[in-house]
Amino acid sequence: MGIPLASESRLASLEKRTPTIATLCSHSSLQIFHGARAVGFPTLGISVGPPPKFYDAFPLARPDRFLSVPRAKDLPSAAEKLRAEGAIVIPHGSFVEYVGAQTFADLDVPVFGNRAVLAWESDREKEREWLESAGVLMPRRYENPSEVDGPVIVKYYGAKGGKGFFLAKNREALEGFTPSGPHVIQEYVLGTRYYMHFFYSPLSDRGYRVGHGSLELLGMDRRDEANIDELYKLGAEEELLKAGIRPTFVVTGNVPVILRESLLPSAFDVAARIVERSIELFGGMVGPFCVEGIMTERLEFKVFEVSTRIVAGTNLFISGSPYSDLLEPGLSTGKRIAQEIERGRSEHRLAEILS
Ligand code: ATP
Repeated sequence: MGIPLASESRLASLEKRTPTIATLCSHSSLQIFHGARAVGFPTLGISVGPPPKFYDAFPLARPDRFLSVPRAKDLPSAAEKLRAEGAIVIPHGSFVEYVGAQTFADLDVPVFGNRAVLAWESDREKEREWLESAGVLMPRRYENPSEVDGPVIVKYYGAKGGKGFFLAKNREALEGFTPSGPHVIQEYVLGTRYYMHFFYSPLSDRGYRVGHGSLELLGMDRRDEANIDELYKLGAEEELLKAGIRPTFVVTGNVPVILRESLLPSAFDVAARIVERSIELFGGMVGPFCVEGIMTERLEFKVFEVSTRIVAGTNLFISGSPYSDLLEPGLSTGKRIAQEIERGRSEHRLAEILS
């Protein structure tokens, strides 16, 4: 099973002309434009309303041109213009959320990566099926509150940034809680969070081989999550709840981290399993993805989520990271995406990386 193709004539035309790298003006767009420019591509910023002024403050990352749409959901109305520009759209972490999953799936413009991944990552059940069948360790899921035998996190479906997640330190604490919608009860994993930025290249034939391509580690971060990261300073959770304060996991920023070198083999093993299974299930992920999990004191890495696009934590490493510098000094994920597109063009293999 290959990735669903953008039409062959369209791909052929992207080989003849220099394509334009386009993305929505948000999230990691500065990095994407900066990286595309470094590889020699023209850039186009899709802005909701007038172009944001903050780009003027970053001349090396400002897109060459802008295309404005009234709302992100109106992107299909700009599809013809984007095709006329020879655009390749780079979806980032907020892209699908802003544009809408169905609109993104149907967008009639070549997109970097395999859109079929959407069905597997946006549904928590399917994501678990993918990861568990890959042999990846995940936080335990409780079907029934009576099975709970330790701290748990109650997650609502479709919650953005962990909004409304409930933490209970034991079964008794959970009994007093009435969930307000569809949810899952998951083991609350005690440990250290790592968000690992990987890149899977189906085109590469050297390095850490996985499938017929190779796996690269470009960086690693931890997210600052308001107000959960500061919770310990205020005391026990019951006291907080009495005060009407609910922990939230809304991301407010990112900090760089590195992993003990002795843990790198297991990090690569987990990411490789996720890629290999993605190839079997839906033709494979392409490009950047982030493995998000918690390392316990027993040095077990439990994965709670995989983000299958460029994540905002990569913005820390616009001029390289302790990992990407060992592939190429100063390499960002944004630049790596542009390099992959350039390689796909020169080797007539765009069909393997665009959908
Ligand atoms: P996103 O906005 O990233 O899509 P989400 O709503 O899908 O978030 P998750 O990414 O699953 O939610 O979790 C949000 C945060 O909750 C994580 O960054 C982490 O801090 C915490 N978390 C999630 N699952 C667990 C767990 N099993 N044990 C401990 N903490 C967890």
